[in-house]
Parts: sequence; C-alpha cells; structure tokens
Amino acid sequence: MTATRVLVLNSGSSSVKYQLLDMGDGSRLAAGLVERIGERTSRLKHSPLAAGGDERETTGPIADHEAALKAVAQELAEDGLGLDSPELAAIGHRVVHGGKRFTRPTVVDDAVLAEIERLIPVAPLHNPANLTGIRTAQELRPDLPQVAVFDTAFHTTMPEAAARYAIDVETADKHRVRRYGFHGTSHAYVSREAARLLGRDPGDVNLIVLHLGNGASASAVEGGRCVDTSMGLTPLEGLVMGTRSGDVDPAVIFHLARVGGMSTDEIDTLLNKRSGLVGLCGDNDMREIRRRIDEGGEDAARARLAFDIYIHRLRKYIGAYYAVLGRVDAVVFTAGVGENSAPVREAAVAGLEGLGLAVDDGLNAARSGGPRLISPPDARVAVAVVPTDEELEIANQTYALVRDGGA
Ligand code: AMP
Repeated sequence: MTATRVLVLNSGSSSVKYQLLDMGDGSRLAAGLVERIGERTSRLKHSPLAAGGDERETTGPIADHEAALKAVAQELAEDGLGLDSPELAAIGHRVVHGGKRFTRPTVVDDAVLAEIERLIPVAPLHNPANLTGIRTAQELRPDLPQVAVFDTAFHTTMPEAAARYAIDVETADKHRVRRYGFHGTSHAYVSREAARLLGRDPGDVNLIVLHLGNGASASAVEGGRCVDTSMGLTPLEGLVMGTRSGDVDPAVIFHLARVGGMSTDEIDTLLNKRSGLVGLCGDNDMREIRRRIDEGGEDAARARLAFDIYIHRLRKYIGAYYAVLGRVDAVVFTAGVGENSAPVREAAVAGLEGLGLAVDDGLNAARSGGPRLISPPDARVAVAVVPTDEELEIANQTYALVRDGGA
C-alpha cells in the first residue's frame, strides 16, 4: 500500500489546527481545531469530512499540546483514520519563522529543531508553539517524517535592497535584524493559482498579492519569485490589520516610552493587540465595520475612519509594488477580507484606471468559492480573487518532499 495521507498541523500558543488530506486524490479526510489549551474550558471541534456526520465538539480541560494531539489522534481514530495508519506518509508542520536559512520545506532532524529554537528571539510568540507541536508529533509517530514548512520561505528570494533595513549593518547582522516576511505559504499558493487562472506560466507573470485576513500582508511577485513583501522582522510591519498597527514611525515607540511612560512590553501589546482596526474603531471584523458604516449614524464615523485608514495604506502598497515590479499582470485578493469584502476590493483600486486597474461592479459583488476575475474583460491589468488554502499548500509541499525521497 502506498502511503498517501498527510496530516497538517498548525500549532499556535494555545491552539492546534489540523487537517488530514489524501494526496492520492486530493481529498480532505478530516479537519478540526483545539482551542484554549491549558485552560479549564479547552474545546476540540472535529469535522469528520470523509466519515460523514456532524461536527463533533468536546469541551473540558486539555492541559498541554501533547494532550491536545492525543485528543486529536483519538478523534481521527474514531473515524478509522488513526495516526497509526500505514497510509500516513508524513506530518507537515507550519513553522512561522525560518530565518534566512530555511528557503524550502525541510524534513525535521535534531539540527533543524535546534535552528528553529535559535530563531525564538525573532519569533517569541510563534516558534515555541511550533516546536512543541513538532516534538509532540515525533513522540506519537517517531518513525514518520515530520516536515517543517516555513512562513518565511517564499520571501527568501527578496533582493537585499528589499530585505535590509537602512540601519547600521553590523548591529543589524549581529541581531539578525532584516525583513523576513510572513504568510509565505499563502502567497506562494495564491501566486501559482492566480497564474493558472490567467492561463499563464507562473514564471511569466508579475503579481501583486494582497493577503487580507486578520493578519494582512502584500507581496510583489515577479515570475513566481517574491521580490518584496510588507511584513518585516516580525508580522507587525506593513498593512493595517485586525489588531496590528502595521507601519508606524519607529520614533512613536520612543515617544510612548519617554513621554507616555510605557514599558517595552506595553508598547508591544499596544501595537500588536490593541491597534489596527480594533484600536481605531473597536472592531476588527470587516463585516462589523461595514455594517456600522452602512447603518450610518454616530457609530458610523469611527468605523468609516478605520476603513479609510485601512484602504489608504492598502493603496499605498499597491502603488509601491507597481513601481517595484514595473509591469503588473494582476492584483490578487485573498484571505478572509480579500475573498469576501467587495467594498474593500472596490475601494482598493478605485480611481486607478490610469494604472490599468478597475473592477467590474457585478463581478466584484458576485460570490463564489473558487478563483475568479473581477476586472472588466478589456482591463489592462487583471484583478482577481483567489481563495487561499495554506493547509493544502503545506500538505502538497510535505508530500512532494517525502515522495521525492527528501525523507
Ligand atoms: P482570516 O484571518 O483569513 O481567517 O480572515 C479573518 C477576517 O476576515 C475576519 O476578521 C473578518 O474581518 C474577515 N471576513 C471574514 N468573512 C468576511 C465577510 N463575509 N465579509 C467581510 N470580511 C470578512
């Protein structure tokens, strides 16, 4: 029997998301999420996609990631998809920070684990959880290849001119301060799918990819290679996000410390958790913000301001990446906001006919689960909506590596 199944694990600090896919026929066998790990009210939601039946939800304390993965394994076993199955080819792990070294998916060994650990200072929130997920999976199936798929990998092709901050070189190198970029798995998947939608070879097209979810990033992709992206040393730089500020003058931080008396940790929390849309208007969900604007009245003003700031920043990045690329074949929207919010897409390119950019109102308003063009048929630059699928991309990369003998 050929092993064709891949389990994809995305381990956060207090959550684990998972999907089991069969790469033989591309089907999704099961998916789910464990939340609030370490609390008394942990919750496991499991969708038995292949086995059929309703989503199962269990609540109760799940102490740590090991207990969480064991609970997931049990749910899968109930569907006849246990982790002991010989059909399981590998486990693919999302790892947020791969630094400069990891330019592609990598089979995990002790040296790889040590390097992911060495990168904790530049990804203190994410890499420790990712490591725990890998180590726990290794304990459950020590014989199976564990593959790390890095959020930063797609961006390692950025030229130095885009990847370096203009600060003292020795200090930057000593502390590994440079622009790494994130959401790379999504940008890679969406770029390829966008080229397919255009009926072109990925190597022949230049794209501006806008991943607009709760976190948000833009990238400039030239012939399938990333040449610039909006997130930097950490996922804080760039676009306005659900709770993150994106770009600010770095002196804002000194000012808040010196004049506002805030500690570094307080400023970190402010910029990462209490800024962006939520800081501007109290809501980080674009649906809610649009509802407030559409209903009008007093409550609408702050929502409108938040929307305008979000769009202003987005348009600045579209313009910047247009200049970085020189020639643009398509602007591509993806992730929660990008896939679902017609008003955001419309406002992002409004008045940019001079750059060849426009959306067709009917196409933009239509809802569809698949990749689609929303620009008028005669547009010089295509505007597209391409749903992202990071789990599928992680599974594809994991399976390709294992099948081709990388393991
Ligand atoms: P993601 O991080 O990709 O899961 O995106 C989550 C975000 O997508 C939410 O916080 C919302 O702002 C946004 N979103 C999801 N569904 C919609 C929708 N139907 N319309 C507008 N925004 C949406």
